[in-house]
Amino acid sequence: AISDKFRRDNGLEYTPDQTVVSTGAKQCLANIMLALLNPGDEVIVPTPYWVSYAAQVQLAGAHLVPIDAGLEQDFLISPGDLETAITPKTRMFLFSSPCNPTGSIYSAKQLESLVEVFHRHPNIIIVSDEIYEYINFFEKHVSIGSFPGMIDRTITVNGLSKGFAMTGWRLGYMGAPLWAAKACTKMQGQFTSGTNSIAQRAAITAINGPLDTTLGMRDAFLDRRNKLIDWLSGIEGLELNHPGGAFYLFPRVRALFGKRYKGTLIDNADTLCLAMLEHAHVSPVTGAAFGAPDYIRISYATGLPNLREAANRIRAFIAELK
Ligand code: PLP
Repeated sequence: AISDKFRRDNGLEYTPDQTVVSTGAKQCLANIMLALLNPGDEVIVPTPYWVSYAAQVQLAGAHLVPIDAGLEQDFLISPGDLETAITPKTRMFLFSSPCNPTGSIYSAKQLESLVEVFHRHPNIIIVSDEIYEYINFFEKHVSIGSFPGMIDRTITVNGLSKGFAMTGWRLGYMGAPLWAAKACTKMQGQFTSGTNSIAQRAAITAINGPLDTTLGMRDAFLDRRNKLIDWLSGIEGLELNHPGGAFYLFPRVRALFGKRYKGTLIDNADTLCLAMLEHAHVSPVTGAAFGAPDYIRISYATGLPNLREAANRIRAFIAELK
C-alpha cells in the first residue's frame, strides 16, 4: 500500500522492499540518523526545524549545521544559502515541507533550484519529511525525490499522524534507497521490531481509502488559520506569518523582550511562553526549541471556540506588558 501511495500521490518509485514501516515518523527519522550518520558528519537543516531533528542528530554523534531563514524569507532557504553551508563533511540534508513549526512550503520551482545544487554534490543524502503533505492549503504537494536523478539519494518520510489524525496509532513509514532501507530495518529490529499489526491493518485502509475526510480536515485547518490570523492581527509586538500548510503560526515576538508582566521580566521566548502559561493559561512553544529564539509557535490543532478564547487571552496578556 505504501509503495502504491508513493507512486500515486508523489510520483516516487519505491518498491515494497525499499519501504520501512515504523512506530511513527519519529522512529523512521531516528532509524535514519542512527543507521546513516557517523560521529563528525554534518547534517544541514533549514532553521526553524522540527525539534527532534536536533536531538536525533546529536544522539547519532553528528553535527547539525543550521541555515537560518526568518520571517522575511517566509522561513525558506535559497540555493545560495545551501551551497554556502555545504562542506566535505556534509552527509545529509534534512527538512520538512510543509514545515513544523512554520507551516512554510517549498514550491516546485524552489525545490528545483535546491536540486540543482544537490546535483553538484552527489554524496549528500536528502531526507524529506513530508508528514504534513495533505495539510497544504493552496498547492499540490511536490516531493523532492520526484525530480530527475533524486530518487536514488532521497529518503521520503511520511506517516498517519497528521493527514489521518492517527497520532496515537503510532505509524510512520519511509521510502528509501534499498541499502538505506535495509540499514534502517536492521536498526529498528534491535530496538522495537515490527510496528504493531493492528495499526498496520488500519494504515492499509487509511492509505488506500478516499481522501475526502482528510481534505475536509485540511479545509477546516485553513478556516482556523484565517480566523486565528484575523484575531491575532494588530497585536503590537506579534509579527505574524501566513503559512501555506500544517497547523501552526510562528510569529516573531522579539519586540516583546525586555518588557515586564506585573514585574516579571520577559527576556526571551522561554520566559514569554512560561509567563503566558502561568498567567494567561495558553501554551505556545518557545521558538528556541526549534532553533529560532525570536519566535513562538502557536498550534491551531483545536476547535474554533478554544482558538477564539486563546486569541483573546494572548491579546489581553500582551496588553499588560510594560
Ligand atoms: N515530523 C514532523 C515535522 C512532525 O511535526 C512530527 C510530529 O509532530 C513528526 C515528524 C512525527 O510524527 P509521528 O507521530 O508519526 O512520529
